Amino acid sequence: MSCCKEPCHGGIDFTETPVAELYGSNCFSNAVMRERLPKDIYKEIVAVQNGEKELTLAAAEVVAASMRDWAIEKGASHYTHWFHPLTGLTAEKHDAFISPTGDGRVIMEFSGKELVKGEPDASSFPSGGLRATFEARGYTAWDVTSPAFLKQDPTGTTLCIPTAFISYYGQALDKKVPLLKSIDALSRQAVRVLRALGNESCKRVFTTVGPEQEYFLVDKKFYDERPDLILTGRTVFGALPAKGQEMEDHYFGAIKERVAAFMRELNTELWKVGIPAKTQHNEVAPNQFEVAPIYSNSTAAVDANQMVMETIRTVARRHGMEGILHEKPFAGVNGSGKHNNWSMATDEGINLFEPGENPESNARFLLFAAAVVEAVDRYALLLRASVATSGNEYRLGANEAPPAIVSIFFGGPLTEILDNIAEGKTGGHTPTGEKIKLGVTSLPSLPKDVSDRNRTSPFAFTGNKFEFRMVGSTQSIATPNTYLNAAVAQVLQEFADKLEKAADKTEAVQSIVKESYAQHRRVVFNGNGYTDEWVREAERRGLPNVKSAADALSVLVQSETIALFERHGVLTREESESRYHIYLEKYSKQVNIEAGVTIDMARRYIFPAVTAYAASLAGDAAALAAIGASNVSQAKRTKRIAELANELYEETARLETILAEAQAAGEAFAQAKAYSGKVRPAMDLVRAKADALEKMVAKRAWPFPGYEELLFKL
Ligand code: ADP
Ligand code: MG
Repeated sequence: MSCCKEPCHGGIDFTETPVAELYGSNCFSNAVMRERLPKDIYKEIVAVQNGEKELTLAAAEVVAASMRDWAIEKGASHYTHWFHPLTGLTAEKHDAFISPTGDGRVIMEFSGKELVKGEPDASSFPSGGLRATFEARGYTAWDVTSPAFLKQDPTGTTLCIPTAFISYYGQALDKKVPLLKSIDALSRQAVRVLRALGNESCKRVFTTVGPEQEYFLVDKKFYDERPDLILTGRTVFGALPAKGQEMEDHYFGAIKERVAAFMRELNTELWKVGIPAKTQHNEVAPNQFEVAPIYSNSTAAVDANQMVMETIRTVARRHGMEGILHEKPFAGVNGSGKHNNWSMATDEGINLFEPGENPESNARFLLFAAAVVEAVDRYALLLRASVATSGNEYRLGANEAPPAIVSIFFGGPLTEILDNIAEGKTGGHTPTGEKIKLGVTSLPSLPKDVSDRNRTSPFAFTGNKFEFRMVGSTQSIATPNTYLNAAVAQVLQEFADKLEKAADKTEAVQSIVKESYAQHRRVVFNGNGYTDEWVREAERRGLPNVKSAADALSVLVQSETIALFERHGVLTREESESRYHIYLEKYSKQVNIEAGVTIDMARRYIFPAVTAYAASLAGDAAALAAIGASNVSQAKRTKRIAELANELYEETARLETILAEAQAAGEAFAQAKAYSGKVRPAMDLVRAKADALEKMVAKRAWPFPGYEELLFKL
C-alpha cells in the first residue's frame, strides 16, 4: 500500500494488495523456508527450533544462501543481526552483502558463519560490569525461534536476523538469552509433570505470548514544541484542561480519520513482516490507543513487540504525528501499559491453561493453575521487579493501573472449586455436588468468561491464559516473561519431584493441589484492586506492596533469586548482579534527565514568559491609572502571578540543590532511592507552581502547547 502524502487526509489509496498476499511478504517465515529449503535442511531447522538439536554449520550455509537470495530478490542490500541489549531497545549494525571481486565489481555474499554469528563491538552497550572495555568483543547468534524479516526505511531494505547477544566469555549481554533459557527450563519441568500424568508423547512445552500495546498519538507540530516530550517521553509540566477522560467517551469510540489512516498503515507494515496485528481501538484516555497482535511463541512475540513499538513511531511520523510509548506521559489521565497474555502449550497443541472437558484434563488444568498461583505468591517480588522501571513507577499504584501489590484474579467459580479442594470440602460447583476428586470428578464446563472481566487485577486468569498487566508500555516483554517462566519452572519442578515418587498419581495430584493452594491462596483476589480496602486487606494477608522501583529491584540480588536463576540455568550470579546494576542506573539516569528538563523548562521557558506577562499586566494597570481608571482585580491577579513566579523560581533552585545531592550519591541503590524519594517530589513542587501559573496566564503568553493541544487536537 502506498500511503498518501502527509497530512494524511483525503487522497487515501483504497486499492490495496489483498491482505493474504501482503501478509508475511517481508518475513522469512517457516512457510518460506519450507518452500525454499531442501526438505532435509528444513526439517533440521524445525528440529533446532524445537530444541531437539544444535544448528550445524552445513545447514546454516544452506539457510544463509537461501535467506540471502530471498532478501536480494526483494531488494535488500544489507543485513543486520538484530538484538536486544540491556537498554531495553533493539540494536542493529548494518553490513552490506557486497563483496568486491577484485576487478571493480561486487558479488552479493552472505555465509552461514555470518548468519549464525556476528561480532558487534560490545563495549558501548551496558553490561553492568560483565565485560571490561578491553574485552570489547561480543557475539550475536541467530535465534532460530524467531523469523528473520525485512525492514524498509530510507536506508533501503535490510534483512534483520533476530539474534542473541553474548560476551566473549559466554555471558548473556541481552534480554534474549535468559528468555530462551527460561523457556527451556519451564519446558523441562512441565514435560516431567506431563509424563508423570501419563503423557508419553509430548516432547516440549512452549510459552505463548500475546502483548497488547498501548500508546498515545500527539500532533507532531505540538510535540516538537515540548522539550519534555522530546527528551523524556513524558510531560513534566501541564495543567489539566477543563475536560479530561471523565466523559468516558474515548474508549472504543469511533476512530478519527487521521488516526484510522495511521492504523491502517501500521497494520499493513506489521502484516508485511509477519506480525499478526489483530485488534485496534481507542483506549480510555483521550488520544490513547491500543494495538494487539495474535499471540505466538514467546521469543517471536518479544521480537514482534519491539517491532510494533518501533513501527508505531515511524508510521506516526509519516502521518504528522508522534507515537508516545511512555507509561505516564500525561498526569491526570490514564497511563499506558502492556498486558502480557501468557500461556503454556505443548508441542502437540494442548493449551495447559484450557479448562478441560474430562476429569483427566481438568486435573491437569487445575494442577498447572495451582502451580501459577504458587509461583505468583512465592515470587511476587520477582514479578514486581520485572516491571520496575522509572516510567512504570508513575503508573503502578496510581489509581488506574494495577496496584504495586501482586495478586491473581481467578473469578468466582474457579476460586470456589480451588477453595473447596484446599479445604477438602464438597465441591459446590460440581454437577452432583460431591467431593471433588481430581482426575475422577467431572467439573462443570467453565464458561469462557469465568473470568468475569476484572480490569484491576495485576495478574488475571482470562479463560485460557493469564494476563500479566503490570508490564509497562515501553518495556521489552523479555524480562517479565523470563522471570515468570523461571518462577513457574521452580514450582513445577517441586510438583514433578512429588508426582514422580508417588505410587498413586491421582491421589498425588489431589494432595499437591490441595496443599499448594491452601498455602498460597492468599494471593488470589477477585475484588477491585484499585481500592484502599484492598491495600489494607493485602497488608493483612502479608502480601508485599513495593512502590518504589529501586526497592523492587533489590530482590534481584537476594540469594533466593540468584539461586532460582542458577538452578534453572537462566542467569548466573554475575548476570543477575549486572542486571540489577544496569536497571538501577537506568532508573537514575531517566529521573536525572527529567529533573534537568524540569529545571530547564522552568528557567528558560516558563519564568521568562510569566514575568514578561506580569510586567505587561502591570504596565496595563499603570496605563489605566494614568487615565484615571483603575482595575483592582487586575492588580491582584498580577500580584498573584508575580508571587507564583517567585515561588517557581525558588522551587527550581531547591530542585537543583536536591538534584546535585542525588548526583553525588555514589552507590547505585542509594542514588536511585535519592532520585525517587527526593528528586521526584521536588520536581512535583516545581510542577505545581508552573501548572498553577498556566491556569492564570493568557494562552498566547504560555511558552509551549498545553494539554488541550496534546490530548485533544489530532
Ligand atoms: P482480552 O481477553 O484481553 O480481551 P483477547 O482474547 O483478544 O483479549 O486476547 C488478548 C491477547 O491475548 C491477544 O494478543 C491474544 O492473541 C492473546 N491470547 C489469546 N490466547 C492466548 C494464549 N493461549 N496464549 C497467549 N496469548 C493469548
Ligand atoms: Mg486484555
